[in-house]
Amino acid sequence: MSDAVIRSTEGRIGILTINNPPVNALAAAVRAGIKDGVEAFGRDSNVDAIVLIGGGRTFIAGADIREFGKPPSGPNLNDVIATMENSPKLIVAALHGTPLGGGLETALGAHYRVALPTTRMGLPEVHLGLLPGAGGTQRLPRLTGAKYALDAILSGRHIPAAEAKSKGIVDAIVEGDLLKGAIAHTEMLLAQKAPLRRVRDLSVTLESPELFAETEKSIARKARGFKAPWNIIKCVQAAVELPFDEGMKRERELFAELLTSTESAAQRYYFFAEREAAKVKDVPADTPQREIKTGGIIGAGTMGGGIAMNFANAGVPVTMLETSQEVLDRGLKTIRTNYENTAKRGGMKAEDVEKRMALITPTLDYNALKDADVIIEAVFETMEVKETVFKKLDEVAKPGAILATNTSGLDVNQIASYTKRPGDVIGMHFFSPANVMKLLENVRGKATEKDVIATVMSFSKKIGKIPVLVGVCEGFVGNRMLRMRGIQSAYMMEEGALPQQIDKVVYDYGFPMGPFAMSDLAGNDVGWRIRQGKKEKEKRNVRYTGYVADAICELGRFGQKTGAGYYKYNLPDRTPIPDPEVEKIIEETSKKLGITRRAISDQEILERALYPMVNEGAKILEEGMAQRSLDIDVIWVNGYGWPVYRGGPMWWADNVVGLKTIHDALLKYRDASGDPFWEPAPLLKKLVQEGKKFSSV
Ligand code: NAD
Repeated sequence: MSDAVIRSTEGRIGILTINNPPVNALAAAVRAGIKDGVEAFGRDSNVDAIVLIGGGRTFIAGADIREFGKPPSGPNLNDVIATMENSPKLIVAALHGTPLGGGLETALGAHYRVALPTTRMGLPEVHLGLLPGAGGTQRLPRLTGAKYALDAILSGRHIPAAEAKSKGIVDAIVEGDLLKGAIAHTEMLLAQKAPLRRVRDLSVTLESPELFAETEKSIARKARGFKAPWNIIKCVQAAVELPFDEGMKRERELFAELLTSTESAAQRYYFFAEREAAKVKDVPADTPQREIKTGGIIGAGTMGGGIAMNFANAGVPVTMLETSQEVLDRGLKTIRTNYENTAKRGGMKAEDVEKRMALITPTLDYNALKDADVIIEAVFETMEVKETVFKKLDEVAKPGAILATNTSGLDVNQIASYTKRPGDVIGMHFFSPANVMKLLENVRGKATEKDVIATVMSFSKKIGKIPVLVGVCEGFVGNRMLRMRGIQSAYMMEEGALPQQIDKVVYDYGFPMGPFAMSDLAGNDVGWRIRQGKKEKEKRNVRYTGYVADAICELGRFGQKTGAGYYKYNLPDRTPIPDPEVEKIIEETSKKLGITRRAISDQEILERALYPMVNEGAKILEEGMAQRSLDIDVIWVNGYGWPVYRGGPMWWADNVVGLKTIHDALLKYRDASGDPFWEPAPLLKKLVQEGKKFSSV
């Protein structure tokens, strides 16, 4: 008998306690232990019923990730669950913690279920591009009806115990000691001579004959490009339409299809990449951290306000400084309106609006920042203003306070040099809207202390962000790579493509929108003003990219906000409508530049939009501006909408396109255009020669 599942008895009840810390993952020994235990108690004439419970902090929390990709060993989960379901002795599963995935599926094999009020259960496989493959899609609908089960499995969300009880997933909520409560419930069932209620024998309620067609329609946009949601719908439909065993067979087939799909491989990779990205190679996990109890923010504009909300949402008091009462009031009003709108939509309680506002203290006085543990600067993007602010912060901030800048384009090392404590200075590059966007590029300066990095990385998580550490370079990682796509998009427009064609290719690849729709959304005037401010039009040997963009801005076509940009808009509808006016501007520009327009294929558009980004990613890796290729992928998936089912630019290059294909395509475009832009990065060349991947760096 393995000790992964411990057998004991309490009167005439056999107890199986799962003992596989920390989260009782479904390792082979656990599966075998449950199966053997159920069989042994089944034969034991001194046992009338069985309670299955998790030792420690949770019932089975899911599959054992250490077994992923290894050849299967021990009984498979479906056998274990079938053994439970067919047991001659009544089985009650006692749930606490987070019975997720295979954990909940195991519990569905019991005849009855009880849970602590704090239990949160669910079938989250969809997040890994999979579906519950051990009967979850067949059993859950039999308990809850098809509609609810579909929603639960498609969202993968955690279901609180009370809701699970109201939907029939659990039969009783147990207060106090779970084991005692479960035994009492089991004794009650025995006294009532309750039947062995096999979920497989229940029939499924189908609330509406249109359910599946309607669900497909309703998820179409969000599930575009993903495979799992569509297979999940098919599985639940099978639960409704087929006998149980055939439904199980269908589930297995549809699961196998996902398991071998690129989409799921990408999603599983990404799941771990995001966790890995929080780790810093030369900053060990046990690096002492500075305590952060209060924060300060300089600037109450677009970014400052959003950043303040992150602090307040996490319950960290923050002082926000501005240059005038008027701007400060305006900034606070925007924050309040944001919260009130969230409350109106049901996203937070009305009384929480005041609680969060109370955590944000406005000020015009730098002395109010003297106790702040971390101060984030989000003022205008000029070095002069940053210099003033950091010199002032150096005077007032307490020793050991972390001084962060939210600059998107200025040199963090230079900013640090305005203080006498450059080791305490770091970049925290939030994305707009800062209260919504999860990505946070934390920028390590050459002097940034390791404990500052450790503190900021972990504080980032506290305020709900997904942090990635990057180095000081122009545009950091995300915007630096984005620029490559922008350059080629501009050139392709001059050479013969229209914004709608380029946008469609990028959208069809899986991005939420293409580069021109994105520019219209962000405001074309931002880049225009930057270009006007620059003395010389060329940068880094790149031919000027702004001819069409400038012409469009000169007509006041700043994008959605003016009702026209690269597209027309019938505001308030924000659907981009292709515009013959723009086509004319583009054609005239080509003529002026002496370019004969030609048809550009979708394949060429895709390659020219994305391969240069991968090439830039290679340079970033080589320069050490990102720690690993996975960090780049996390930045792109979280900050820029790279479809997660393609893993991110570097994973996609490594595993889908292949580095040699990209390398050769770069050479092809270089030779055709004569443009040094296309020169493959030395690292890319080297990896191709060695037959290696970015992930090996
Ligand atoms: P913004 O113009 O909306 O806000 C800047 C605020 O700083 C203004 O309210 C201004 O009154 C205030 N300010 C200016 N000088 C100040 C000073 N000396 N002391 C105190 N307050 C001062 O600008 P924003 O979009 O919030 O950008 C702020 C910073 O964040 C910039 O460095 C920008 O590059 C960076 N950033 C912006 C975005 C974005 O999408 N907007 C994204 C990432 C980073």
